[in-house]
Amino acid sequence: MEKKNQLYEGKAKKVFETDDPEVLIVSYKDDATAFNGQKKGSITGKGVINNQMSNLLMRVLETKGVPTHYVEELNERETAVKRVTILPLEVIIRNISAGSFSKRYGVEEGIVFDAPTIEFSYKNDDLGDPLINDDHIYALKLCTREELETVKKYAFLVNDLLKEVWGRCGITLVDFKIEFGRVKDGSIVLADEISPDTCRLWDSETGKKLDKDRFRRDLGGVEEAYQEVMGRLKQAL
Ligand code: UDP
Repeated sequence: MEKKNQLYEGKAKKVFETDDPEVLIVSYKDDATAFNGQKKGSITGKGVINNQMSNLLMRVLETKGVPTHYVEELNERETAVKRVTILPLEVIIRNISAGSFSKRYGVEEGIVFDAPTIEFSYKNDDLGDPLINDDHIYALKLCTREELETVKKYAFLVNDLLKEVWGRCGITLVDFKIEFGRVKDGSIVLADEISPDTCRLWDSETGKKLDKDRFRRDLGGVEEAYQEVMGRLKQAL
């Protein structure tokens, strides 16, 4: 597969066109940002881990009925994916209170919910990705009602499947963010990535944070945490 011109460079990834108009190549960087790009840094080896971890998890999800953009891992940092039009929504599922949920509602981290919650943010860096509800999504025509129903169905299924996989790794899935896109035929697929950049992962025994919160909150041991999570996932799959 031939890498052609660069389409886009984001905070953590670059995207290239290929000789196939329906296939793009994603290249994962070690760059890390937090707080809407205000905190910048680098996590050595993160690009390799996030690429490989996201691909492993997407392949599991595919076999369990969640369509994804995954096509083929090309090398340790690069993957061929289906070209999609990303829905401008961050889809966030929570099993346990943390992060912006705790801040918004003034509650401690670690409250285990009776049932998972879903929320959406409007992907718009200038606005700081504001929280958005279903009616406002329709008002802004960000997607159709049918698409949002599909997104919700897949998001909860992804949560059930990931909870099980991480559980086998001795890791509790606290919350995560996923994104969806439309492929050429109009169907909805899971896109973007699933990694410690986009999930909160706590050691089930000790509660130790094994995700990007170590970078966000300057907890140290960031590289080691990413490696630890990857090592456990490889063991479990
Ligand atoms: N998240 C993400 N990208 C974002 C915002 C959140 O991947 O731009 C992930 C984050 O890693 C966490 C989940 O979504 O696993 C919920 O994040 P939250 O809303 O608590 O926001 P944060 O505290 O990260 O600002």
